Amino acid sequence: MTDRATTTRVIYLGGLGRSGTTLLERLLGELPGVAALGEVVHLWERGVLAEELCGCGVPFPACAFWRQVGERAFGGWTSWLAEQVLALRRRVDRTRRIARIGHRDLAEYARAYQLIYDATGARVVIDSSKHASLACCLVTSGVDVCVVHMVRDPRAVAHSWSRTVERPEDGRPMTRWGPARTAMHWTAQNAALELLAGRGACVTTVRYEDLLAAPERTLKVLAHELGLGAGPEFPFVKGRTAWLGPSHTVSGNPMRFHVGRVELRRDDSWVRGLPDGDRRLVNALTWPLRARYGYWGSAA
Ligand SMILES: [Zn+2]
Repeated sequence: MTDRATTTRVIYLGGLGRSGTTLLERLLGELPGVAALGEVVHLWERGVLAEELCGCGVPFPACAFWRQVGERAFGGWTSWLAEQVLALRRRVDRTRRIARIGHRDLAEYARAYQLIYDATGARVVIDSSKHASLACCLVTSGVDVCVVHMVRDPRAVAHSWSRTVERPEDGRPMTRWGPARTAMHWTAQNAALELLAGRGACVTTVRYEDLLAAPERTLKVLAHELGLGAGPEFPFVKGRTAWLGPSHTVSGNPMRFHVGRVELRRDDSWVRGLPDGDRRLVNALTWPLRARYGYWGSAA
């Protein structure tokens, strides 16, 4: 567990949902030796207990990749195991508890994730769980993790959370938030990830808008910073088009199921779609962090 030479390196994608983490995960996951795992924080509830679909399109228990990971890590997935980890999660993995976490529970909780990462057999895994609190648990426990902090204009994020989106897993609508709630979550998650960087953790920040403005260049710079090879190539990205293969993402945005050609275009529908009152509210509630990331005018 503590031998870094034999453990898997973890790239943890942090940030508030609807900030482009699923897209970034899929793109980085196309690199050789890199496995995109999706939002591992939801594996216990949605994968093991609810038996939702893996990114490859089959239910979690039927996915050969995850079955092998479960057997290697825990001798198989069981409801008992999932309930145990969920109980630990309730005790230690909370944003408001980032500053004070019990050591014994924390080590046990982080160990469950380390066992999963190592059992994939991949050189590098991507966990797009997003929550700053899990990133903090992993960093504090000594997991070899580098956090990619993804930010997006909070007005675009607020617009996205206000829209009705169907979950491909079960056809039910995804959670919707009003602009005030989104703005508060946006500030809380980003501030917590900033705190992590301030404590000396490996954290690198990427703006959704920069990724979509220059996909290949942004990916190359990021991959170099993350040590994913001396000069990682992205032959599956040409201009504003990318080609994605299947992945075994355990949970996440509906985009995780997409295979084949994808257009890399910035979604600016908030500029016309977000009502003025909501825009003013989000502007007020996300200041000054919004300015720190360069989101000043009517569009970034
Ligand atoms: Zn799968």
